[in-house]
Amino acid sequence: MALIVQKFGGTSVADIARIRHVATLVEREVKAGNQVVVAVSAMAGVTDQLVSMVREVSPLYTPASQAEYDAVVASGEQVTSGLLALTLQEMGIQARSFQGWQIALKTDEAHSKARIEEIETDALMATLESGRVAVVAGFQGVDAHGRISTLGRGGSDTTGVALAAALKADRCDIYTDVDGIYTADPRVVTRARKLQKVAYEEILEMASQGAKVLQIRSVEMAMNYNVPVQVRSTFVDVPGTMVVDEEEVMERRKVTGVTHTRDDARITMTGVPNVPGVSAAIFGPLGDANINVDMIVQNITEDGKETDVTFTVPRTDLERAKSLVESIKPSLQYHSLFADKNVAKVSVIGVGMRSHAGIAGEMFKTLAEKNINIQVISTSEIKVSVLIEEAYAELAVRALHSAYGLDAPEESAA
Ligand code: ADP
Ligand code: ASP
Ligand code: MG
Repeated sequence: MALIVQKFGGTSVADIARIRHVATLVEREVKAGNQVVVAVSAMAGVTDQLVSMVREVSPLYTPASQAEYDAVVASGEQVTSGLLALTLQEMGIQARSFQGWQIALKTDEAHSKARIEEIETDALMATLESGRVAVVAGFQGVDAHGRISTLGRGGSDTTGVALAAALKADRCDIYTDVDGIYTADPRVVTRARKLQKVAYEEILEMASQGAKVLQIRSVEMAMNYNVPVQVRSTFVDVPGTMVVDEEEVMERRKVTGVTHTRDDARITMTGVPNVPGVSAAIFGPLGDANINVDMIVQNITEDGKETDVTFTVPRTDLERAKSLVESIKPSLQYHSLFADKNVAKVSVIGVGMRSHAGIAGEMFKTLAEKNINIQVISTSEIKVSVLIEEAYAELAVRALHSAYGLDAPEESAA
């Protein structure tokens, strides 16, 4: 007998008919003799609706309003956990729902982006041992003050993987509306190919660079606790993508995936005095304000007296970042400040980069051929990212996907 965690995303539980279908996938594991814990998302679109109602009432992000935000947005998962447990009962399968606080799934107090600190397993184990299915509301937990917390958008993935880690499950299956992890978002690149296996590091980097198929934290958790994760389809019964250790990725490829994100904004400061301590003066206050600076580039003028500093911040933090940078103008004496939201970051990712040279050069050549201007570049051991004008994002992704030989043959295109 194995212990399986099954996580179902929003489109998988979008209406009653789909919840009934999901119940048959749970039934299949139960009939195979397995102990089953299910983590569910809210029905598709529900969380967005809840978020917009909160924002209508309270546009400010204060700690107190964030706690109420969590109380509201966590409710979507409460509904689906109850509906799925009830559907299973109607089918003659013993099941009960669990909210985060009932488990308890304990988090820190960072409302709207809380981190899981501990998961008590007694209640869940007792449910499994009594032959019942535990249907857990994903995305939510409880903080030390007994207040409901949520784990950030897409957080039900993290609930699923965290439950699998805490319960030492044999497998964590992430059921979604695609049948696996692809070389690029299949909604953007029709010739994207499904990967049989992907390394933890690769999907971590892909998720960080815009592939929202898994929440970043769920991958971190899977990596740290060695949870065998499979991403597979709720609607088509075919093997999905296994997330595995790097050594297990047999297929040797230069690039594994191409991603893009429109979540960044660019700030350029011109005429910054080229003296020691300037970077600290700019990036110190941004860090103190919890604004994540991602890409940075600095150009020194010919006479060496001044520099232009360009960097990216999350688009949602742009206004705060701008006013912070403006506030240091009197002390820093730079010339001007430009901000641009119409940017996209396109990345090529793969552990193959550790052993192949020339990946970045190929990327720049491909973009040049399409006349796409590169604004900022950043690299890591297994990734090259470029910032470009937003309008070219999809063109760039498709061109790079072809250039690295990732396109599926015409006839088997996804
Ligand atoms: P769920 O509601 O099941 O959590 P999500 O919408 O969060 O589903 O994630 C699945 C979506 O991720 C897919 O519909 C797909 O458009 C998108 N996606 C982005 N990049 C990739 C990728 N490289 N491979 C597969 N799906 C991807
Ligand atoms: N319902 C939450 C969201 O839409 C969590 C999730 O679906 O994973 O972000
Ligand atoms: Mg998701």
